[in-house]
Amino acid sequence: MTDLHDTLLTLDSHIDIPWPDRQDAWAEETPRQVNVPKTRKGGLRAVCLAAYIPQSPRDEAGHAEGWERVQGMLDVIAGLEGRQGDHGARVCRTAADVRAAYKAGDLAVIPAIENGHGLGGRPERIAELARRYGVRYMTLTHNGHNALADAAIPRKDLADNETLHGGLSDLGRETIAQMNRSGVLVDVSHAAKSTMMQATEVSSTPVFASHSCARALCDHPRNLDDEQLDRLKETGGLIQVTAMGSFLKKGGGGTVEDLVRHVSYIADRIGVEHVGISSDFDGGGGIPGWKDATETANVTRALQAAGFSDEDISAIWGGNMLRFLETAERAAEKV
Ligand SMILES: [Zn+2]
Repeated sequence: MTDLHDTLLTLDSHIDIPWPDRQDAWAEETPRQVNVPKTRKGGLRAVCLAAYIPQSPRDEAGHAEGWERVQGMLDVIAGLEGRQGDHGARVCRTAADVRAAYKAGDLAVIPAIENGHGLGGRPERIAELARRYGVRYMTLTHNGHNALADAAIPRKDLADNETLHGGLSDLGRETIAQMNRSGVLVDVSHAAKSTMMQATEVSSTPVFASHSCARALCDHPRNLDDEQLDRLKETGGLIQVTAMGSFLKKGGGGTVEDLVRHVSYIADRIGVEHVGISSDFDGGGGIPGWKDATETANVTRALQAAGFSDEDISAIWGGNMLRFLETAERAAEKV
């Protein structure tokens, strides 16, 4: 009997990379939670790797720093393309590229950006990054308000008040328009509720949360409440439940069963076609049962134990996200 897990195109929609780079993307021994050998061991077939830009002051120096770092990190992600022995990795620009990499037995790498601060206040740069690196999504913010939008968690150390723009700024709206044109998905993880709700109105393609959980089950500011989940359903959006213990269970300590509890709750409320999975590995994620990429099969087993059908599991594990990428690709072509 074939294990269901081995037949799935498993896609993890949010993983960080160590920075500065440690040249261990192919190492057999490494403290990082995700690299090429670990994805093979765990049957993880596709990874969205994020160039994470810490929020810094919203001034000229902060913006220059963000722009420099985002290019440096995307260079490292692009450099993953290659082959060592029978292990291969491909940087994928489209859902079709991801499927082709999977067919060939190579790891599919989808470049992403965490924090629109990396554009350095220049919305048109997203088109350049999409062209140069194949960037497919960008979170509008990280923790701390930026020039584009309000974040879910203000940064007191950067003198943030509760709100800055009341959601999206004009620059943020312009950035979303540029993202839509470039086929770059609008990611509302880390964004304030006001930002998220406005983004669903401004964006011409559905928005998604690459790594967030359900607030009804765990009252954390990084999670989406029921009104936000319902908005995702109405607009054709997606939420990728993440393996962060403190988002899964109040006070922390969430496990792989808790992750599946969030997936079940969201599937019941807004439909299984609107939910997927992410780890936030190498960015604070990792829970008992799914501590790194080698343990990915445990997630599939927990989904089976919760009663999801093979078809549902396939959608949750990657089918939904690939369909979502395709929607943005088609919309970008039309502009
Ligand atoms: Zn994050």
